[in-house]
Amino acid sequence: MSGGADLAGLADLTGASAADLAGPGAGNAALARRWQGAMMDNFGTPRLPLVRGRGTRVWDAEGNEYLDFVGGIAVNSLGHAHPALVRAVCEQVASLGHVSNLFMAEPTVRLAERLLRLAGRPDGRVYFSNSGAEANEAAFKIGRLTGRTHMVSASGGFHGRTMGALALTGQSAKQLPFRPLPGDVTHVPYGDAEALRDAVTSGTALLVLEPVQGENGVVVPPPGYLRAAREITEATGALLVLDEIQTGIGRTGRWFAAESEGVEADVVTLAKGLGGGLPIGATLAFGRAAQLLTPGAHGSTFGGNPVVCAAALAVLDTIERAGLLDHVARAGQRLRHGLEHPRHPLVREVRGAGLLLGVVLDANAAARVQRAAEERGLLVNAVMPDVVRLAPPLIVSDREVDTFLGRFRAALGEVLDETPAAA
Ligand SMILES: *Cc1c(COP(=O)(O)O)cnc(C)c1O
Repeated sequence: MSGGADLAGLADLTGASAADLAGPGAGNAALARRWQGAMMDNFGTPRLPLVRGRGTRVWDAEGNEYLDFVGGIAVNSLGHAHPALVRAVCEQVASLGHVSNLFMAEPTVRLAERLLRLAGRPDGRVYFSNSGAEANEAAFKIGRLTGRTHMVSASGGFHGRTMGALALTGQSAKQLPFRPLPGDVTHVPYGDAEALRDAVTSGTALLVLEPVQGENGVVVPPPGYLRAAREITEATGALLVLDEIQTGIGRTGRWFAAESEGVEADVVTLAKGLGGGLPIGATLAFGRAAQLLTPGAHGSTFGGNPVVCAAALAVLDTIERAGLLDHVARAGQRLRHGLEHPRHPLVREVRGAGLLLGVVLDANAAARVQRAAEERGLLVNAVMPDVVRLAPPLIVSDREVDTFLGRFRAALGEVLDETPAAA
């Protein structure tokens, strides 16, 4: 394939009608039945099938259009079917789709170089995997290779579902059926620097924290918390691991959320937004932490796959060329301001950073607000019973933000009318 004409053909495909792409028997209810007949039940049955997307908009199997403020859970940083992403993926898969880690591919190296440049740390090295959990598994193993075994993480924190990442995840309901979990992990209250001082000792291999707790309902720690974590880990010789899987790569208006406190971690994990929808995990390690994985210590067949790395490079290029970091800061403020002025009576608080916002609601109304929003053509995520998470594509326009605000307010109004306790 030599570019031009064939790529135009693929772009046409993404513009095909919902009915064309959905195929026979793929109405919303029909697909739900097939899902139940073929898929394991770990996710339950999602409420909606989606068949097509463009920019911030998506369509379901019945042709209904939605403004997508879920963004694949902070993944679709460039929205849907972004031409730069489509082109990068198509060109790479048409020239070299996979090599394994027995061979080198240039896009893999280029992405690693690029991430280290963004981190501003020439003493760094990168390990690529395929998901957030795997990025944290690599951090877990790096921690073990210090010779220490004790680890500290925060209650409510989310670090993934594989056994090592789950051991670090501070949500006991997710852990309970899988005990005993690996490791020797202490969970401390999030945002409490004193608790860190007590928990992190000279026997601690690593402390892992999210700069903002995403899955826990977009919880922002008090100012100075990450700096305290840095001081405490430096004093005890523990590694500081920052899980920027949800907050990284522009989501908060900076490449890395921890830049807001000027904190440099020993290990940074990335995933969600980095691939713009293609599966990637990256573990960045610096200084002595960068030297701990030696030949044979860890690996992944797909990690560093050139197609996925080409996608991530397209994401980084586009964020840079389109000035999206500044745009995210401004659009995030517009969204937040619109939610707060005036604040709807059902809304207790709006929190977060950039385009990662949590709308905290009275009366555990999140699921009802999600449904009312859906009926008005908005996709939002009830991440907690009382919190709706907003994580639209970084390319969301001012007009889309305004459209969102109008419809979301109407959805809140409908739910408030049906909620006597909160009225
Ligand atoms: C989503 C997430 C993970 C897990 O990523 P997966 O790709 O689902 O394994 C880990 N940490 C944080 C902060 C996340 O938001």
